[in-house]
Amino acid sequence: MAVQSLYRRYRPQRFSELKGQEHVVRALKNAVANSREGHAYLFSGPRGTGKTTTARILAKVLNCENPLDGEPCCECGSCLAVQEGNSFDVIELDAASNNGVEDIREIIAAASLGSPGRHKVYILDEVHMLSKGASAALLKTLEEPPSHVVFVLATTDPEKVAETIRSRTQHLQFHLLPVDELEAHVRWVASDAGIDISDESIHAVLRQGGGSARDTLSALELAAATGGMVDEVTPVDEFVDALIEYDAGRLLAAVAHTVNFGRDPRTIVNDLVRHMRDAFLTQMAPELVQLPEDRATEVAAQAGRLGTPRIVKVIETLGLAINDMRNAPDSRVVLEVALVRLVHRELQMGIESMLARVERLEKELENRPQIAPAPVNPSTGRAVLGGRVAQDPSAPAVRPVAPAPSAAAATPAPTTTPEPAPAPVPASTSAMSIATVVEKWNDGVIGELKGMRRAVAQMAKPVERDGQLVLMVDNEPSAKRVNEYMPDLSAVIFKVAGGKCAIVVETRSEEPRAPKAKVVEEVAEEEFVDIEEIKQLPTVSNKATETNLADAFPGSEILTEDE
Ligand SMILES: [Zn+2]
Repeated sequence: MAVQSLYRRYRPQRFSELKGQEHVVRALKNAVANSREGHAYLFSGPRGTGKTTTARILAKVLNCENPLDGEPCCECGSCLAVQEGNSFDVIELDAASNNGVEDIREIIAAASLGSPGRHKVYILDEVHMLSKGASAALLKTLEEPPSHVVFVLATTDPEKVAETIRSRTQHLQFHLLPVDELEAHVRWVASDAGIDISDESIHAVLRQGGGSARDTLSALELAAATGGMVDEVTPVDEFVDALIEYDAGRLLAAVAHTVNFGRDPRTIVNDLVRHMRDAFLTQMAPELVQLPEDRATEVAAQAGRLGTPRIVKVIETLGLAINDMRNAPDSRVVLEVALVRLVHRELQMGIESMLARVERLEKELENRPQIAPAPVNPSTGRAVLGGRVAQDPSAPAVRPVAPAPSAAAATPAPTTTPEPAPAPVPASTSAMSIATVVEKWNDGVIGELKGMRRAVAQMAKPVERDGQLVLMVDNEPSAKRVNEYMPDLSAVIFKVAGGKCAIVVETRSEEPRAPKAKVVEEVAEEEFVDIEEIKQLPTVSNKATETNLADAFPGSEILTEDE
């Protein structure tokens, strides 16, 4: 059984058969019924959401001998020719392979030779791949389109389509299907095609399809071919388990397995981000999770094992990877690097703090021979001030070498002039109090925070430098988040430090000693997005909620945005 045959067999032939794209259907049917169809449409949306199918239905109805209410009859010669893929009125081009200027010129030359009374529909798939010259040639035609021509430009990446072209089209957005709608469709197709399949397999099929009708039916096809057994090739759970276990080898194996099966690394990363977003929602706003109940429970369990800060980190890192993939020659490498970064603790720390750590250890080694207790008056047992004993190998080491990540460098080692013994707790900034913050960052600071504040604090790695507390973050968006939440963070930090101190937020990409840093000493109360507020939004305003959440994850995309 051919892999695509179910999808072909159940491919929608009329607008009314399209699933989940009601706004698109309404716009096109109305336009056709009133003979007001546009000359150029831009269909954008994830792969497998019906863009090309819709373009074909449009071509069919425009040339149908007996159209009814904006729908094709699907019986006349013209309709059948389109359905069989041998109509001269529909010209499909994949811009990814026909992206030269010459190809576009040929198309345009052909477009001007129309047969009277008929519509020629040009479907340009992946139009964002057109070369600059080809875009310019296309633009010229769009400026003065022949009256019988309709261009349908399809793309998964509308942002990459030249604005000049976009502005001359009617832009219609296609969406992934909500899980319940897709499930109903799969069950219907399965029963219509006489496929006997268990509920469990149906859910596996849905997971594998990732919201794309085409991919879901392909998965069903495979399940049917193997007697209802679903060999889940992209079990997103495999990736998540490997992330939980910090297992780089397992992640890379999962990538290899999935890519070998024919999946685009972009699809993998989008699936993962979507899954992580669900995981995040199970913790923050469970009522917004759109998953079957048993699956939601599984995802919530994964979320619990990962913890919110790591989920945020994964979404953030993969979001950046999605951006990087746009310009990378090999998107698989970008995906692999991003995943390894997420499980490699030292890479996660960043080169900056690694260097700081090496420097600190070196300093400690240098100082080590000098580490000796201040001379003690044997009669009082108290330190004698202003003196220094000669090195005495029998003297016990008072200051053990601090365990690695603590901020021992910030702790002044006793040298020639030890400070008076019971030093008062400094009222304001001192290296000592900042060292305390650094040391107690996990329990004292992060442990005191909740929800987003906690997640944001977890983005930062604290370092003491020149009497300032430096919060190192990975990138500008993180820096922005940390600054946004600074009123809450600083309150806890000052508490731990026992006084106010200078706080600097720095991204790792900056020069280590010349930060264009923002010094925060006293911060005014600011407004910030509170997850409680987000949760209290009525569910109908999903968009606002999702936009808020998307804002919280730099580089993320809303994958199921509704009109
Ligand atoms: Zn017809």
